[in-house]
Amino acid sequence: MTQTRLMTLPTPRGALTPNRPLAELTWLRVGGPADWLFQPADEADLAAFLRDLDPAVTVFPMGVGSNLIVRDGGIRAVVIRLGRGFNAITVDGGHVTAGAAALDAHVARRAAEAGLDLTFLRTIPGSIGGAVRMNAGCYGSYVADHLVSVRAVTRSGDIVTIPAADLHLQYRQSTLPEGWVVIEASFSAQPGDPAALEARMVDQIAKRDASQPTKDRSAGSTFRNPVGHSSTGKADDTHELKAWKVIDDAGMRGARQGGAQMSTMHSNFLINAGGATAADLEGLGEEVRKRVFQTSGITLEWEIMRVGETSVD
Ligand SMILES: Cc1cc2nc3c(=O)[nH]c(=O)nc-3n(C[C@H](O)[C@H](O)[C@H](O)COP(=O)(O)OP(=O)(O)OC[C@H]3O[C@@H](n4cnc5c(N)ncnc54)[C@H](O)[C@@H]3O)c2cc1C
Repeated sequence: MTQTRLMTLPTPRGALTPNRPLAELTWLRVGGPADWLFQPADEADLAAFLRDLDPAVTVFPMGVGSNLIVRDGGIRAVVIRLGRGFNAITVDGGHVTAGAAALDAHVARRAAEAGLDLTFLRTIPGSIGGAVRMNAGCYGSYVADHLVSVRAVTRSGDIVTIPAADLHLQYRQSTLPEGWVVIEASFSAQPGDPAALEARMVDQIAKRDASQPTKDRSAGSTFRNPVGHSSTGKADDTHELKAWKVIDDAGMRGARQGGAQMSTMHSNFLINAGGATAADLEGLGEEVRKRVFQTSGITLEWEIMRVGETSVD
């Protein structure tokens, strides 16, 4: 592991902060510091920084932390978080192009105002960079159904355009190389009546609030739905067996460890019920996996990304 804490890094125009706590930048509000947090001013600043950065240094791009457990020891890397220079949204004909820092909800609303249907993004609380990396989706639509291409900065500082097909988007995953930072994504969308699209989004918000603990500190679905048999025939829709069901069957709805809890409202949501550490959350998740395996023989796979070290060395 490269000790990035003690290294001299290139001097960017944006903010480069050593030993920066990350908990407040994640939805679960847990975790230790990044050795360095880099918030580039714009794409040229990001590209120049990565070009000049020692190739041995690990780079971890984060979005708004809605799918992350940062472990308590923090991250031995340069964490990159995009901000204002990366959140423009433009509409051109049937295409919407959004900076990677734009929030999914803003993109959905902006598209709807222009009469384009990206409504599935409205209730996903992440950013466009995270949506691409995770092939985010809900209510039967995924990023993969709409993505045309992305622009990204490679680990060595080149700005490249990647056609969607080259990202091999599948259920909650993509083949974006490690250390590459998505800076922009272009989507195609079907036309729709703005008022009808707005009404659908209002309906989706109500549906979410009724079925998921949207007011709690969570990172969305904790585990992927176990692979089962599809009746729809969609390649990425072979998930009829629901994670929440096997968690219920294992008696883990509402289970607690320290400040972590499996939500009583939706048993596949791991929440910080107050004062949880990352170790509490990950430990409870592992206990759930163990109990589910014991009761149903199913191995649950984490959907939440867990990053960093368990303790500071
Ligand atoms: C209440 C709640 C409900 C949710 N519901 C859904 C849902 O219905 N469907 C769904 O798909 N997800 C859902 N999620 C999970 C989460 O919102 C998505 O996975 C989202 O796409 C993550 O985006 P983010 O910006 O928060 O990324 P982060 O959590 O910060 O990062 C996630 C991954 O994306 C990578 N990443 C982020 N930005 C970039 C970038 N610019 N370039 C390269 N890599 C990047 C990170 O390295 C990491 O690997 C939910 C979460 C919550 C809290």
